[in-house]
Order: sequence, then C-alpha cells, then structure tokens
Amino acid sequence: MLNLVIFGAPGAGKGTQAAMLIEKYNLVHLSTGDLLRKEIAEGSEIGKQAQAIMARGEFVSDEMVVSIISGQIDRHADANGFIFDGFPRTVRQAGMLDELLKSKNMSISIVVAMEVPETELVRRLLERGKVSGRADDQNMDVIANRIHVYHEKTEPVTGYYDAQKKFVSVNGLGAIEEIFGRLTAVIDQVK
Ligand code: AMP
Repeated sequence: MLNLVIFGAPGAGKGTQAAMLIEKYNLVHLSTGDLLRKEIAEGSEIGKQAQAIMARGEFVSDEMVVSIISGQIDRHADANGFIFDGFPRTVRQAGMLDELLKSKNMSISIVVAMEVPETELVRRLLERGKVSGRADDQNMDVIANRIHVYHEKTEPVTGYYDAQKKFVSVNGLGAIEEIFGRLTAVIDQVK
C-alpha cells in the first residue's frame, strides 16, 4: 500500500498534483477541504458546523476531520493506497492519523511537500478564487489569515514527519508537469 501526504501552504498546488498522482499510482484522493465543502453543499450537520469556520479561514476541529477521514478509509477498504491532501494540518492531527492508520494496519509511506513563496501563493489563490468561485479564495483578509494559520499550526507538522524520516520537500515553482516530475521522483524511491 502507498499512503502519501501531499503537503504545502494554501495555494501550493496540492489539489492539482494530487489529481495527477492518483492516476499514476492508482490511489484514492482524500482532501478534507473537498470533503467539508461537500458536507456544506449537502447541508449536513457537519457542514453547518464547518461553514462559518471555513469562511473565516480558521480550522475545524481535529476530531471532525479525523472522523471524516476514518469514514472515507473504511469506505475504500480495497484501495491501493491514499493521498491525504490538506490533512493533517496540525501536529495533533498527525498523531491522530498515525493512531488511526495503526488501528487499520496501515501507515504513512512518505510526506511530500511543495515549497512556494508567499507572493506566489497569494497570486494563485486569487486566481483560483476567480475560476472556482470559492469565497475563501477571493477575500484578501481570509487569504492572509489562512497563510498565518498555516505558519502557526501546520508548518510544525513538518517536524513531526521529519522525526520519522518521512518528510521530503520539493520546489513547487515551475510548470505543472515539471513539479509532478519532482514529486514522482521522490515517491518512486519509497515505492
Ligand atoms: P482546503 O480546501 O484544504 O484549502 O481547506 C478549506 C478549509 O477547510 C480550510 O481553510 C479549513 O477551514 C478547513 N479544513 C480543511 N482541512 C482541514 C483540516 N485538516 N483541519 C482543519 N480544518 C480543515
């Protein structure tokens, strides 16, 4: 089984690369952001709780995302492996994910991060906001808050996986295919 975490700041290109990686390695893509937006669209209880939090660019609870992820892993019991995208976003989530995977006789194979300078992140998010209509990609204050929360709560996750010797970072600037090549070079080494 190949279980990847695709890591990076908002706007780093995680979703774009994950969509290509699932094709190449035959994996299931689990994006907590996408799954939460689906809950909102369906008007579920989880969606109602998450909506205002997401609109501010804050994090929903660790318990909420871990429970969503757990359900999805069980739903795809026959999967070749998973790509976790936008998750784990806190050190606590990373610990909870390890526990969860252990209970299912699974583990993280590798964490691949994409490094993108902040000015480029903001440019990409605003561009995506125009195309996707995502409200949290259109408001400069919300974008700034998401990047701030990323530095404060998510960046420390790199140390968590570094300590397990599972963290690798690549340059996230350049053509999409070029970045894909950097990621697959790393992943092919652990496969
Ligand atoms: P994303 O699509 O990954 O940018 O996520 C959109 C929003 O969903 C984030 O700004 C958070 O409000 C929420 N979210 C997504 N994943 C997580 C997570 N792992 N932990 C907490 N909140 C999350």
